[in-house]
Amino acid sequence: MDEQQPGFKGLNMIDGPGDAEATTTMAPIAPMAMEQPEAAPPTTSASSDSGTHARVLIIGSGPAGLTAAIYAARADLEPVVIAGFIPGGQLMITSDVENYPGFPDGIQGPELMAAMRAQAVRFGTRIHDLDIESVDFSSRPFKVTAGGTTFTADAVIVATGASAIWLELENETRLRGRGVSACATCDGFFFRDKKVAVVGGGDSALEEALFLTKFASEVVLIHRRDEFRGSRIMRRRAEKHPKISIQWNSQVVDVLGQEKIEGLRIKDTQTGVEREEPMEGLFVAIGHKPNTDVFKDWLETDKKGYLVVTDHTLSGIEGVFLAGDVHDHRYRQAVTAAGDGCKAAIDAERWLEAQAAEAGEQAAAAPAGEAVSVA
Ligand code: NAP
Repeated sequence: MDEQQPGFKGLNMIDGPGDAEATTTMAPIAPMAMEQPEAAPPTTSASSDSGTHARVLIIGSGPAGLTAAIYAARADLEPVVIAGFIPGGQLMITSDVENYPGFPDGIQGPELMAAMRAQAVRFGTRIHDLDIESVDFSSRPFKVTAGGTTFTADAVIVATGASAIWLELENETRLRGRGVSACATCDGFFFRDKKVAVVGGGDSALEEALFLTKFASEVVLIHRRDEFRGSRIMRRRAEKHPKISIQWNSQVVDVLGQEKIEGLRIKDTQTGVEREEPMEGLFVAIGHKPNTDVFKDWLETDKKGYLVVTDHTLSGIEGVFLAGDVHDHRYRQAVTAAGDGCKAAIDAERWLEAQAAEAGEQAAAAPAGEAVSVA
């Protein structure tokens, strides 16, 4: 069940001049998160300063991170992207993207991300498919450790996005990869002619349910309230789809089955009465949480754990910029994340220019032979 979804081209097929490192070691996409893959080797040699130091280091490779990379690269800042072991962000587990401008017929999420990555690489971005282990923003240059290598950077753009939330049921965790998934795009293919459930009432759940109708014989949408949170167009599509049935006021309280999912225990949220229903698949689509754990000691977070942004893209630390879903729980769209990445790169570029100008002025004013540093 860890195969790539139909239509996915694979980022390792991207061609980009002068950056073989970034184009050769894309791990298979396994967003079903069945088993955690072992750590990937660094995609570049990180032994020299030129390999580990960046003027702009971008953490994250969703639309925010890669758009920041495109802008920073075109500004000759030679950015480094720490992309994550499973790069590409949430669009890697999104099927049809119909609202990203420029694609009148829609585009598959992974294809869009492959194109963004190719565009970033084309202008000289160095990409490492590594997970961040720690950051040290106490002084400049900033330090970011990933895959056992410590990278340094004059400016950092944090664009780590958000991840799927699970129901946190014991058997849900046990049966992940054996019928339980958070990604219909990745795993829907395996549920041909099966009866599956989708939990949630937002756009993600509606989108997952609609996608699953391509494969499943029946899709049961289970929502804990009596109205959807999702957009009107998606609600209408789901409600009138002949393969989708809706169970309102219902909460999944257990996942049944030993080797694979065989059914669900569902509780009526109004009466408290529980029932069991045979089911061959469960897709959890109840929202996302921001990927901010590694920044907790350095950057301010709000009640929900999202990073706090000030003045467009600024964090509380000068030289550290924020972009995309890692701080934005209002819009959370690919296009807003991309716009944010653009803004963060422009702000980083201007800040670096100001730093260089300041250093130049100080150097001009300093007595001969005295070293000056503003970094
Ligand atoms: P969301 O809007 O936060 O919806 C989460 C849903 O899961 C809600 O209906 C919530 O129920 C339910 N839920 C939360 N915790 C639950 C639990 N423990 N048990 C059962 N149900 C639970 O999240 P989302 O659907 O992922 O969407 C996030 C944002 O992305 C939205 O702005 C959305 O519009 C956008 N989005 C857009 C598209 C698109 O345009 N194609 C696709 C996907 C997402 P309650 O309603 O009772 O709170």
